Amino acid sequence: MSNLTVSRITCARIPTAYGNFQLCYYTNTHDNKEHLAFYMGEVSGASDVYVRIHSECFTGDVLGSRRCDCGEQLDLALQRIAEQGVGVLVYLRQEGRGIGLLEKLRAYNLQDLGHDTVDANLLLGHGADDRNYALAARILEDLGVVSIKLLTNNPLKLEALQAEGISVSSRIALESEVHADNQHYLRTKAQRMQHLLHIDPSQRDASER
Ligand SMILES: [Zn+2]
Repeated sequence: MSNLTVSRITCARIPTAYGNFQLCYYTNTHDNKEHLAFYMGEVSGASDVYVRIHSECFTGDVLGSRRCDCGEQLDLALQRIAEQGVGVLVYLRQEGRGIGLLEKLRAYNLQDLGHDTVDANLLLGHGADDRNYALAARILEDLGVVSIKLLTNNPLKLEALQAEGISVSSRIALESEVHADNQHYLRTKAQRMQHLLHIDPSQRDASER
């Protein structure tokens, strides 16, 4: 893994509701997926750059699924970056915490039978979290970012990036709205995956009937 390298193939301007971004397409020596950097402003040589490492979630990002908070996190991250005028969203193609869309859909069916998101992955023979952050670290280095402020609720992600040699000056929380459809998912992330979330314990979990 430490030999992993990335190559920036090309970048293009993408105007959004939040302003102008550049989308950069990367290839790498680890897999054949299309990992991306979506950045705003002058990031090369910059310190304390707002960075979100976002793992692809087709159902959440594109379809707006309320089973998870990915779409909302993506949106919040782009808003925060645009407020700063400088920042990077690294978009990793590791759907379903690395298990892929097909297996994620199978895991959803297990969750509907009462298993939580961690157990569902384990039952399908996957790790609780098969994601790899070396790719993100190499992309940030390629962009010339000196140090980052990481937009995440996941301290393990912060540690993983530090272990890859990225200088993380602070963590910025991205708390999304808790509602009946994502409450059990968010609680599992908080209780079993060390995510730092504030979930009212008195709220009844819709999936705990
Ligand atoms: Zn998701």
